[in-house]
Amino acid sequence: MKIIVIGAGIGGASVGIALKRLGHEVVIYDQMRENKPVGAALSLWSNGVKVLNWLGLSAEVAALGGQMDDMAYLDGHSGETLCRFSLAPVTLQTGTRPYPVARADLQALLMERFGLNDIRLGMRLVGLADDGAVVTATFADGSTDTADLLIAADGARSFARDYVTGASEGGPRIERTYAGYTNFNGLIPIDEAIGPATQWTTYVAEGKRCSVMPVAGDRFYFFVDIPQPAGVPYDRAEGKQPLESAFAGWAPGVQALLAAIDPNVSLNRVEIWDVDPFSTWVRGRVAILGDAAHTTSPDIGQGACSALEDSFALAISLATNTISVEDSLLRYQQIRAERAGDLVLRARKRCQETHAFDPEVTRAWYDRLRAEDGAAIIRGIVGNIVDSPINLGGGTSRGPDRPPA
Ligand SMILES: Cc1cc2nc3c(=O)[nH]c(=O)nc-3n(C[C@H](O)[C@H](O)[C@H](O)COP(=O)(O)OP(=O)(O)OC[C@H]3O[C@@H](n4cnc5c(N)ncnc54)[C@H](O)[C@@H]3O)c2cc1C
Repeated sequence: MKIIVIGAGIGGASVGIALKRLGHEVVIYDQMRENKPVGAALSLWSNGVKVLNWLGLSAEVAALGGQMDDMAYLDGHSGETLCRFSLAPVTLQTGTRPYPVARADLQALLMERFGLNDIRLGMRLVGLADDGAVVTATFADGSTDTADLLIAADGARSFARDYVTGASEGGPRIERTYAGYTNFNGLIPIDEAIGPATQWTTYVAEGKRCSVMPVAGDRFYFFVDIPQPAGVPYDRAEGKQPLESAFAGWAPGVQALLAAIDPNVSLNRVEIWDVDPFSTWVRGRVAILGDAAHTTSPDIGQGACSALEDSFALAISLATNTISVEDSLLRYQQIRAERAGDLVLRARKRCQETHAFDPEVTRAWYDRLRAEDGAAIIRGIVGNIVDSPINLGGGTSRGPDRPPA
């Protein structure tokens, strides 16, 4: 079949690779003019890593991934360690290591593996039509292309979502919800004054957090949350000044992190929004995938992993069902909508717990961190993965009784 994919992000590029591997003719269109991912890095948890392994990228992803052996929470003011434990049980229970990766590295890997010659940049989708046999995509430059089906991985502000749900013909529009905080992120050289080189280290206090994760190339991915209303003005010329104000007087490790940030090299700022789960992902021969179908806050680090699960489920559904394209897409929707919505709600719950929107709730969380031996946090991480379609209904298991290499 000829398949059009809209969006060359993690969702679009991964489904493109999966569909090409099934022997389909696939072309990706993206409105961006060059590959410039928003956000510095992301944590690929084991469910996302497994999909990439399934796409034949296990060695490449391992090479891009940071070695994240341990996890620790520290008091943001005093720097006192609240808890520290090994992440080896996550690997043992799920079957593969999680990897924090620089986003640009992952994006470049996926686009190259898909085939740069089959990616058309600078092409904004502005129209969709489906006559029951052929889908026609219209682009802002007036050009069109046709295919047997179209997968739209066009992100949180998806054009195709309105087509699929009927909002573009006057139906109710799916709106986003502000999560209540702004996230700053970027890459810095590893500095053990912030935390050990192989540890995911997070400083917490006042509903704020400052976190670093190791990625390849001796770098830390840092991400910092500041609860504040939506729409607080920010000029890039301010650089890291909002961070210096928000974390004045915090622990020496946090000051080392702030000192390491070079706003001219790597500093992104993003307000965090999510979208209530919804279950209409498919209309005829058009399906949405990734953030277009399930925009989530990053509080459990599962947005891109969920997009990768979509790619897996969509490819399997197309490969195994033979009634019709429409039927295969509906089965993809059925496999995915509830599971992806569950992750959105889990992230929202965690966002509420950690950002002191209710100070008592967050204080109770800090108290639990002091008593934590890792078991509850690992249960939470593995709990996000156990129902992944990539586990083929087998869930997770204890695995071999030794730590991973
Ligand atoms: C601060 C932050 C931290 C995060 N951390 C993690 C993490 O640790 N782990 C994790 O798994 N996830 C994380 N996420 C979520 C993750 O970034 C997203 O879920 C993921 O990038 C979504 O990929 P996507 O391909 O669906 O969408 P996008 O990456 O948004 O790609 C959509 C693409 O579609 C293109 N496009 C849009 N509209 C059109 C159009 N009309 N025509 C043509 N092209 C179009 C865009 O140019 C873009 O390239 C994080 C998100 C944020 C904001």
